[in-house]
This record gives sequence, C-alpha cells and structure tokens, in this order.
Amino acid sequence: MSFVTRFAPSPTGWLHRGHAFSALTAWRAARSAGGRFLLRIEDIDATRCRPEYEAAIFEDLAWLGIEWETPVRRQSDHLADYRADLDALAARGLIYRCFRTRKEVAEEIGRAPHGPMEAFRGAPLSADEEAARLAAGAPYAWRLSLDAADRELGGFGQLSFHDEDRGTVAARPALGGDVVLARKDVGVAYHLAVVHDDALQGVTHVIRGEDLFEATHVQRLLQALLGLPVPAYRHHRLLAGADGRRYAKRDRAETLRELRAAGVTPDELFREMGFE
Ligand code: GLU
Repeated sequence: MSFVTRFAPSPTGWLHRGHAFSALTAWRAARSAGGRFLLRIEDIDATRCRPEYEAAIFEDLAWLGIEWETPVRRQSDHLADYRADLDALAARGLIYRCFRTRKEVAEEIGRAPHGPMEAFRGAPLSADEEAARLAAGAPYAWRLSLDAADRELGGFGQLSFHDEDRGTVAARPALGGDVVLARKDVGVAYHLAVVHDDALQGVTHVIRGEDLFEATHVQRLLQALLGLPVPAYRHHRLLAGADGRRYAKRDRAETLRELRAAGVTPDELFREMGFE
C-alpha cells in the first residue's frame, strides 16, 4: 500500500518544539513505511503569514534532518481552486452568508439551550434581507450549513474515519457547528483548503496533533460533500513543556531557532522527545 503523509505548517510564527515533534512524527512514519513525506505551506491567511516565517520553516526542518519533496505546495498559489470548491458548495445551497460579527456569535452561543459550549448554528437570511445587507456593504462569512449537509447526505451516520489509535471513529461534524469556510479577509478557510490539498496531493495518512481531532470530524464531512477520498488519521500526543503545559505559538514557546542559537543539537531534541 502506498503511504503519503505531510507536515502542513502555517507561517504565522517561528516553529517551536511542538512543531518539531509533529514534523518528525510524520517524517519518521513515512520513512518506516517506505512512503513519501510532503511539506505544505498553509498560508491562506495573508493577514497573519510572513515570508520570514516561511523561510524559517525550511531552515528549521532542514536543521532537524528532515527531507521533503519539491516543489512545495504553497496554498496562497491556489486560492482560485479553493474558491471553486466554495462556489460548488454555494451552488448546492450547502453554505450560507452569515453577517453576524464574532461578538454576536459568541453571545449567541452563550444563550444556546445546552450551555456555552454549544457550537454555533445559523441559517441563511431571506433573499431580500441578504440583498439589503450586501447592498449596504456589510461584511459576512460563508458558513457550512450543517442542516443542509444533513439533508443532502441523509444524516451523518455513514460518516466515519480510521484513527490509528482509536480504530473506526464515527464522525460527529456537528461538534464544530456551522464552521466558517471563508471570510472577507481570508478568502477561504483552513478546513476547505486542507481537504482539497490532502486529496489532490494523494495524502493517504494525515498525521497531526491531538488538537486537530475535532477538525478531522469537520473535514470528514467536507470530504463527503466534495466527493474526496478519506485518508487514515493519526492524532499524536501534544508535547508538553517541563511545566506540563503544551507548547503553543502564542505562549512564545522556545523556538527552534532560539534553541539552535543556544547550541542545542537535533540529537538532544530527539532524545528529549522520546525518539531514539
Ligand atoms: N496548518 C495547520 C496548522 O499549522 C495544520 C493543518 C493540518 O495538519 O491539517 O495548525
């Protein structure tokens, strides 16, 4: 069986130990399966991505001894393709324009009958109301309609995916609510670009952190709606720092470039991460 996996960072900050662990986990899996390892630059959010972060991704991964195939797919080069997916979903009534602000959505979720954790579910406006908002230049996001998807697929009961640690998992796409698939400043959102690319690039095994487990449920639904193949999934543990908290960009976790500058070697990192 062929084995194709990938590491798909977003150049929105410097890579830290958690990224190294994720990249190495995928890369080592590809090597031991005699498979292929791809690197994909997920830079659709132009408001947050910076070229120096992208350059650092290449530098940091090479330092770790990781080798990837070229050319590297950069999502910002393919926005028209993701847009075509979005148009296809719109033509089938599977997405709708949501004019609520993030604050309004947060308030609405807070008022939901099952408490604050309930994910947002909305509905399209009437044609007249929508036309009026558009004419007034009101900003909006395209959201996936779980109701419309449910109708089209006749329920989500048939949707499952293989998770290496959990076995067959029944997908629960409603976990994420009506997810945003595009907004004004980000023409297409993460979920759509990921399923498009994983299929196009022939990815057979998606290996990524446990923090994206919920995303897998949403992406499984998109695969069904877009008629895409479903890869196998592995959600690896998240690396925790000495204080037991997981590394994250926003915490300013020590970056790989800082570690390198401080004289830490890749071998030391491998040992620390439990790779022999
Ligand atoms: N680009 C995503 C991130 O940096 C990861 C996407 C994925 O692995 O599916 O969090």
